[in-house]
Formats: sequence, C-alpha cells, structure tokens
Amino acid sequence: MSDCIFCRIASGEIPAREAGRTETAMAFHDLNPQAPVHVLVIPTRHVGGANDAVGPDGNVWSVLMGLAIQVAGDLGLADGGYRLVVNQGQNGGQSVGHLHVHLLGGRRMSWPPG
Ligand code: AMP
Repeated sequence: MSDCIFCRIASGEIPAREAGRTETAMAFHDLNPQAPVHVLVIPTRHVGGANDAVGPDGNVWSVLMGLAIQVAGDLGLADGGYRLVVNQGQNGGQSVGHLHVHLLGGRRMSWPPG
C-alpha cells in the first residue's frame, strides 16, 4: 500500500535502522524509542493489524514472533528479559495501521501498562 508508512519502510522507500529480516518480515528500530531497545517487527506485505492476522494470514504470527525473539537475542536481551507488545485499534493505542510487534528491552518494565 503506497500510503502505508511501514509498507514504504519494507520496500526501502523510507529509510529505517534495520535490526533483522526474514523472507517475509523485517525488524527496525523505532523512531521514538520507549526503552533503551525498542524495535518494531513487521510483515513485509501489508496486514492492517491483529484483527486482520487471522485465517490464511494467521501464520504471520509465528514469523513475527520468531524474528522478534531472534532480534532480542542478537541485541543481548535474552537473559535479562524483554517485552513483546501488539497494540490493536484505538483502545489498544495503535497509531500505524500495519501490523507490528514492539520489542522493548534494556530496562525493567512496569505492570500494568498505561
Ligand atoms: P503503535 O502506536 O503501536 O501503532 O506503534 C507505532 C510505532 O511506530 C510508534 O512507536 C512510532 O514511534 C513508530 N514509528 C512511526 N513511524 C516510524 C518510522 N518512520 N520509523 C520507525 N518507527 C516509526
């Protein structure tokens, strides 16, 4: 989708600081990090959000989670721990309409989230 910022990052049209990639997903550092490590993991093809990642598109989860866990290890977070977050829709705080998993690490996270 030409008007989707994450599709444009996936295609290389908009630059991003890449943290990892598979054939169908990529990881890049968030522009506005909420933790010392804040990486976004996206499918390279457009999926609007968690609500859309069902049925034939449901297998996207294993790819995204697998890449997120791999990047967490690459960035030295595996032992200390990290958080994986998916925001869906208005109440979930989703601001970009392209499915993404937040990988947050490098500090102690609080619970409940805001
Ligand atoms: P969400 O609010 O869950 O939809 O998360 C969207 C995230 O995308 C936010 O953390 C933004 O800081 C991040 N973001 C938006 N535009 C860019 C960009 N061009 N490069 C990297 N991160 C971005």
